[in-house]
Amino acid sequence: MVSFKEIGLVNTREMFKKAVAGGYAIPAFNFNNMEQLQAIIMAAAETKSPVILQVSKGARNYANQTLLRYMAEGAVEYAKELGWEKPQIVLHLDHGDSFELCKSCVDMGFSSVMIDASSLPYEDNIALTKKVVDYAHQHDVTVEAELGVLAGVEDEVAAEESHYTRPEEVIDFATRTGCDSLAISIGTSHGAYKFKPEQCTRDPKTGRLVPPPLAFDVLHEIEKKLPGFPIVLHGSSSVPQNYVDIINANGGKLPDAVGIPEEQLREASKSAVCKINIDSDSRLAMTAAVRKVFAEKPGEFDPRKYLGPARDEMKKLYMDKIVNVLGSNGKA
Ligand SMILES: [Zn+2]
Repeated sequence: MVSFKEIGLVNTREMFKKAVAGGYAIPAFNFNNMEQLQAIIMAAAETKSPVILQVSKGARNYANQTLLRYMAEGAVEYAKELGWEKPQIVLHLDHGDSFELCKSCVDMGFSSVMIDASSLPYEDNIALTKKVVDYAHQHDVTVEAELGVLAGVEDEVAAEESHYTRPEEVIDFATRTGCDSLAISIGTSHGAYKFKPEQCTRDPKTGRLVPPPLAFDVLHEIEKKLPGFPIVLHGSSSVPQNYVDIINANGGKLPDAVGIPEEQLREASKSAVCKINIDSDSRLAMTAAVRKVFAEKPGEFDPRKYLGPARDEMKKLYMDKIVNVLGSNGKA
């Protein structure tokens, strides 16, 4: 049993309180490998932004939960070396699907866990979430829960049918589970293909898909029911079209990949939304940079020569999100 405090991590409690009051959101970036983690920490240290490092099921399968946990410990020290005296870094389990998994993360030093029981019937979601909250709170670990179903695919979290969070359920759910934050469904979606073409309109000039707007009315209703309660948005990549274009121009094939427009995320950040999950955008930045090197320098075979540019591109992306979308710069 290791407490997250011993390894210099923080939970989300104070961070979210300040973010809700200050009208900004904390970035939650997923990581699977060293270059991604370096880019996240460099961007957070340089902008002095609190940051949430997320470990998904896919990441655990790919990189090993223990290794990722030690990488996060290393990240705290690395942040200090970069001149960030008191790094505000959370290590968070993304989409935990069982009590045992959440417990194992609490026990190994995660400072925050998500229990996603949103696919279960309402009462079962409450029971499982409460069980995780009861255990996690004994160790001061914060818990994110989910109500409503998001569409899309994210590392083995897949849902065919989405439905918005029902505002009439949120008070009962938050009170009975004791969760610290709530992920809601208002039209965001996992992955780089968030919307089917038939859900979108098409920009006549560029031919690109224009996605349907987020359900801000549902968000505002939830905020009214739970004033000041931290709200989380999953599946909030914007799928920057410049990366899609670079990928497609260099041998890739991502037709009609479309995300959540950044103006809408900017607007959401000003509300009780205090954690915004971004994963696909970093995958796109990395893939665009690697494809470009491969196309322009076919003789290159040193991984540092293509993973290095990928890291630079991810760092640029993370800094842009922090400064221009979430507004969390200077808050840590
Ligand atoms: Zn998610």
